Amino acid sequence: MGWLTNWRRRRVLEKHRIDDALWQRATGGLAFVPKTEKLKELTLLFLAEKEFAGAHGLEVTEEMRVSIAAQACVPILELGLDWYAGFTGIVVYPGDFRVQREQVDELGVVHEWADELAGEAMPGGPVVLSWDATANDPYINVVVHEFAHKLDMLNGPADGLPPLHAGMDRAAWASAFEEAYEGFCDAVDRGKETWLDPYAAEDPSEFFAVISEAFFEQPAETKQRYPDVYDQLRLFYRQDPL
Ligand SMILES: [Zn+2]
Repeated sequence: MGWLTNWRRRRVLEKHRIDDALWQRATGGLAFVPKTEKLKELTLLFLAEKEFAGAHGLEVTEEMRVSIAAQACVPILELGLDWYAGFTGIVVYPGDFRVQREQVDELGVVHEWADELAGEAMPGGPVVLSWDATANDPYINVVVHEFAHKLDMLNGPADGLPPLHAGMDRAAWASAFEEAYEGFCDAVDRGKETWLDPYAAEDPSEFFAVISEAFFEQPAETKQRYPDVYDQLRLFYRQDPL
């Protein structure tokens, strides 16, 4: 199927383009998005292969689509669109959305509760985003966060370990992330003010998603605070945002 995909992608690039004014409106305010032809082409292919749907009556405009697609393409700029294979849907809610949770404990008691989320990535399913959080929350990057979870899920349940490239050292990855994660959880437990969102202490998969946001949005500070993690992310994403 590889040749067919490549042929389709070449056709998309030959026949379509993103209008310059639209590109500017959608990405102009996003400093971490490189304004390169390469990212623009990848964004175009992303838009051709993924399907957007608005929830709760939200109309997903062209500008919203391009903005989400461009941000989602930053992590895979040097990996390629096949790293987002296995799902097509991107569902956009106007604001944070509620999901019903259910868990059965060891006594067989069913616990039910509702979570308010700004984003969710489902294994084998769509990426769900709150547009309000995507556009207006200065402290989180919901798009990079949820698509980092998608990369993490390529080799099984999200656990903070995405499929590493040949030549990468799994032990080096594990020791860099374990040390950073344990230190971070310790700081959160002691009630200390943390540079990263304390939500990163939730579990190793959240730590990976949150520090991926920081890697792209604040590379200098990420490298200074977490040099070993920065090195591993640089090898994994095959780019150095700094
Ligand atoms: Zn998350």
